[in-house]
Amino acid sequence: MSARLQVMKFGGTSVGDAACMARTAQIIAGGAREGACVAVVSAMSGVTNRLIEAARRAAAGESGEGAAVLGVLRTQHEQALGTLVRDETARNAIREELEEVFGEGSRLFEGTALLRELTPRTLDAISSLGERLSAPLVAGAVRELGLESEAVDATEVIITDAFHGGAEPLMDRTKEECEVRLRPMIERGIVAVVTGFLGATTEGKLTTLGRGGSDYSATILGAALNADEVIIWTDVDGVLTADPRLVPEARTIPLISYREAAELAFFGAKVLHPKTLKPVMQAAIPVWIRNSFAPERPGTKITPEGRSIGGGVKALTAIQDVALISVGGPGIVGLPDVVGRTFSTTAEVRANVLLISQSSSQNDICFIVSAVDAQRTVEALRKEFRQDLAHEKVEHITVDSNIAIVAVVGENMRGTPGVAGRTFNALGRENVNLIAIAQGSSESNISFVVEEKAAKTALITVHREFGLGTPLN
Ligand code: ASP
Ligand code: MG
Repeated sequence: MSARLQVMKFGGTSVGDAACMARTAQIIAGGAREGACVAVVSAMSGVTNRLIEAARRAAAGESGEGAAVLGVLRTQHEQALGTLVRDETARNAIREELEEVFGEGSRLFEGTALLRELTPRTLDAISSLGERLSAPLVAGAVRELGLESEAVDATEVIITDAFHGGAEPLMDRTKEECEVRLRPMIERGIVAVVTGFLGATTEGKLTTLGRGGSDYSATILGAALNADEVIIWTDVDGVLTADPRLVPEARTIPLISYREAAELAFFGAKVLHPKTLKPVMQAAIPVWIRNSFAPERPGTKITPEGRSIGGGVKALTAIQDVALISVGGPGIVGLPDVVGRTFSTTAEVRANVLLISQSSSQNDICFIVSAVDAQRTVEALRKEFRQDLAHEKVEHITVDSNIAIVAVVGENMRGTPGVAGRTFNALGRENVNLIAIAQGSSESNISFVVEEKAAKTALITVHREFGLGTPLN
């Protein structure tokens, strides 16, 4: 029987400096001693943002920008290297790997500044540099602990389509490459430290999986290798019942279902990249969220079923960077195509629609988009309904940015009557005014819209109503 295989991912803060990388190496070594372990790492925290910012400036013709940022990154990584790896020869070998990445970065920035053009493909190449710098350091840190370890460029193992900036894995091809490149390492007890966030097309062109995509890298590899579990090591204790900055009584949830976790990820709880669970759902591979700064804590386990608590309500989440758009007036009652035209328009401008609500009197359709999409969406709608506005068939198209969505999430709310009633009663008692309400027919999410300044009270109230702050075990 082969050893138990864990795929472990470490986010930017978990590899943020030499001390964090050393702690990460300890965790990896622990996993490798228990069984087999493949690690996936993000760039050191802040690095990807810096690279992207510099790429944009280079494209605007600021030719010194690339060299400046690479200089800063060289100092940062060199410092970590000096602390992590004692042996000079070993250090030099890693330095050589890093220099290759810096050389490539410098050519990419120069080309961008020269052409004053930043294609999605070049942006992918530049934004991936951070992972390609952190992986050799972490592998070096693992070797310091007496294990065999090697950095692996994900372009060798994660094969994707050619959608730069948000590529999707081709799982069959990825499996094949993982068998060729990673399986032999696993069998020989060599810890692979794979660069998160990136992959390559079948032609070998580098792609990225979208911001925050290292989580996704980990579950892609977990599924491709049929791992026993995937552990996302981060800087929080797990999935919480609510954002602790808004709800001080928030607690870590020990067990949660794929569906609930995905719902929370979609609604802005920033623990997981929204696509993270997709690759592992079919094979039912459990995913853990754990704190690399407090590895003794159990974290949250995400499994197919999760567990029912508190009348089925598992967690709350709020999104604040959103805007409510409303299209309406009494005149739209007789206009059967208003809904269709509204949402064709949002689709045309690629606005991300988070919630839709229409009263049965049909006076008003309102929906929520991300704040960044609001302006564009309203302009497009005013254009689409120009005639109707002129003839007062559509009375208004308005936008309100001072709002927040609060979502109450729990898979076992399905079939538990009274959750909505309790929620809205509690909110009424606290005088929280509800602007709109929506419940999907999956019944694993009840969402409502409140004024932005009422979001905190709403969260605290519902959290208390369902006893989410009391121990869950
Ligand atoms: N470094 C990438 C980013 O910042 C990927 C990740 O951290 O997951 O988006
Ligand atoms: Mg991240």
